[in-house]
Amino acid sequence: MAYSLSQAGFSVVVLEAGPRFDPTQYPLNQADWERLPKTFSASRDAQRDHYTSGPKEPLNPQYRHLQSWTEGEKVSVNKTHRAPPKVYRVKGVGGCTLHYQGEAHRFSPHAFKSRSLFGYGEDWPIQYEDLEPYYDKMEKLLGVAGDPNNPFKAPRGPFPNPPHRLSCASQRFKQGFDELGLQLHQNSVAILSRPYDGRVPCNYCNGCSQGCMMGSKSSMDVSLLPKAEATGNTRILANATAAQIQIDGEEKAKGVMFFDEKKQENFVHAKVVVLSASAMESPRLLLNSESKAFPDGLANRSGGVGLYFMETMFHDLTALFDEPIHSHKGLQIDARCWNYNFPNPSQSFQAGVVFGVSPLGLIGPGAYSKYLVHGWGKSHKDQMREYFGRTLHLFAIGEQHPHPNNQVKLDPTERDGFGLPVSQLATQLHANELEMLNFMAIRGKAISNAARVKRVLGEASAYDLSGITHMGGTCRMGSDPQRSVVNQFCQSHDVPNLFVVDASCFVTQGGGDSPSLTIQALALRAGEYLAKEARKGNI
Ligand SMILES: Cc1cc2nc3c(=O)[nH]c(=O)nc-3n(C[C@H](O)[C@H](O)[C@H](O)COP(=O)(O)OP(=O)(O)OC[C@H]3O[C@@H](n4cnc5c(N)ncnc54)[C@H](O)[C@@H]3O)c2cc1C
Repeated sequence: MAYSLSQAGFSVVVLEAGPRFDPTQYPLNQADWERLPKTFSASRDAQRDHYTSGPKEPLNPQYRHLQSWTEGEKVSVNKTHRAPPKVYRVKGVGGCTLHYQGEAHRFSPHAFKSRSLFGYGEDWPIQYEDLEPYYDKMEKLLGVAGDPNNPFKAPRGPFPNPPHRLSCASQRFKQGFDELGLQLHQNSVAILSRPYDGRVPCNYCNGCSQGCMMGSKSSMDVSLLPKAEATGNTRILANATAAQIQIDGEEKAKGVMFFDEKKQENFVHAKVVVLSASAMESPRLLLNSESKAFPDGLANRSGGVGLYFMETMFHDLTALFDEPIHSHKGLQIDARCWNYNFPNPSQSFQAGVVFGVSPLGLIGPGAYSKYLVHGWGKSHKDQMREYFGRTLHLFAIGEQHPHPNNQVKLDPTERDGFGLPVSQLATQLHANELEMLNFMAIRGKAISNAARVKRVLGEASAYDLSGITHMGGTCRMGSDPQRSVVNQFCQSHDVPNLFVVDASCFVTQGGGDSPSLTIQALALRAGEYLAKEARKGNI
């Protein structure tokens, strides 16, 4: 939004609760990087206190076989209840794109109309064709690399960057997919495969999640925000925490009260307020902005703020191979399998699922010691030799149906460091999700058997663990102001000069595809609309 509005000549102030990071200072630039604190851990910890969870969810015993386990411990992680939700996010200029893996997926056309095609969820008020030009534009801005001939995706032109070659490890796992007639494709990623836009291509160090020290991953801090600032129209205030959006007598937003880096209360006046604080924090800020005119929270006359939270449905299997596959090198996720992205009516669940392979955190011996290799002395060394560079994750991500009871609300008692109520997150699994997780586990095992992995070292599943990386819902987009919070341009139905532009406007989750490119395309579209309407004097 900052990019789009400042290009259009509008004056923009960005309030960002976290700091500004300097890629040249990321630990991966140091020789002893594995012993240094993780780049974003401090800001993650700072965020961690900022939400609580609803009542613990008892595990459904019918699916006990899905309990997470690791070879090291040989026990289930949670025996009776699902672990409380754990949301992974980064506070900082660039948000979660700082630690995302750069996957840049377009949602497929069917993902926008799950209600009319498959009978679940809700249709979006827009279709793939509405977003397509913005997907195109966004991919060019980010220099997305990919293969345009993916038969599971809508037909399209070439990507601005050629696809990355599959790593040695992905090629090895591909044998299992091939054997079962599944297609493991080159992923589309916002990671440069050639020099582009003044930035250098990827060095395949695998450290995307720790912050790209090369600037080859197109996180917002190195791609769009510098362009926004270069216009002279955008000012970014880091360590500035928005606390309340205030309204005037005409029920229009008049600006934002925030705490600055010295924790002093401050106010910024604005003709338009855009809220992009994530599916957890945007509803919180709206609910914390109640007033006489909006006693249930700003922009919440529908009562929909906070509802339909969608978390990450995942299954992960850690596979050990017999031979070295150099799994510590490459992109974090260079290959995906979309065979199950289109929901299949003959299955026991209705949802899209996408498989992928990745080393995830296993990129150095320190991580192996922490997660997999135990013991001391010779036994440790022997096991390290057996595991290092031979271990790869096979994972699947699927969509959770939007349920009204899965929601973000305000915790009645807990406050953050500024004295503001924190979010309380309630999220539960339903029958459809359990069946989907079961499917992921069964298919995952079949693929790893077909790939002739030496041993499975562990499995993790959203059945008993919650690791939320992709989240959406909570300020749903729709045409009916009674049943949605924002319209198709992310504009509040109740407050015309307030926009909510992040994953909270999502209606459904894209069948297992990653969300960022869709958030960004929606932002370009909303920015263009906002600029046009403001020029006409309509906002
Ligand atoms: C480990 C990991 C890997 C991922 N990999 C991928 C991937 O490869 N591809 C993909 O598409 N998606 C990926 N995702 C998901 C993706 O990063 C998020 O879905 C996306 O960034 C969400 O964007 P957002 O704008 O909704 O929120 P965010 O990116 O979370 O941005 C919100 C920003 O608002 C700030 N903020 C919050 N509250 C306030 C406040 N009160 N005042 C001021 N500022 C505030 C936050 O500090 C943050 O910077 C990944 C996520 C994780 C955790």
